[in-house]
Amino acid sequence: MECEICGAEGAGYIVLVEGAKLNVCQDCSSAGKLLRSPLPVRDPAAQPARAGRAEMEVVDGYGTIIADARKRMGLPLEVLAERINEKHSFLERVEHEKTLPDAKLAHKLERELGIKLLQEVSSGVAVNVKDGQGKGMTLGDILEIQQKKKK
Ligand SMILES: [Zn+2]
Repeated sequence: MECEICGAEGAGYIVLVEGAKLNVCQDCSSAGKLLRSPLPVRDPAAQPARAGRAEMEVVDGYGTIIADARKRMGLPLEVLAERINEKHSFLERVEHEKTLPDAKLAHKLERELGIKLLQEVSSGVAVNVKDGQGKGMTLGDILEIQQKKKK
């Protein structure tokens, strides 16, 4: 199967680009929202060091999210810590983002504060969209590349 963007052999990734599903190679899989990859991608950089299930990741700025929600609810840190059965000092470290909460703690905080702390890593949402790596290809760009390839 050829990549529908660059024409390389070995396409197997399905990405969604402006509503169109394209069969693309690994290099082009960042062009859109990744719907399916042929194999679990073994990219050590993209996986947390923790072994096991790595599909959920704590969002950036989690400390602020927790602190804001807690203050909005008027909950002292001590009270929140007690409610979720954690040490007050530990929770403080989490709020200052000195400690990354594990999935279990994140879930407890989500429930207690009504916030969202975990995001799916594999969904491709918000992956390098801002910092230029994802390039934000449009369908127009892709068609242009295809035209060039064809000649
Ligand atoms: Zn390609």
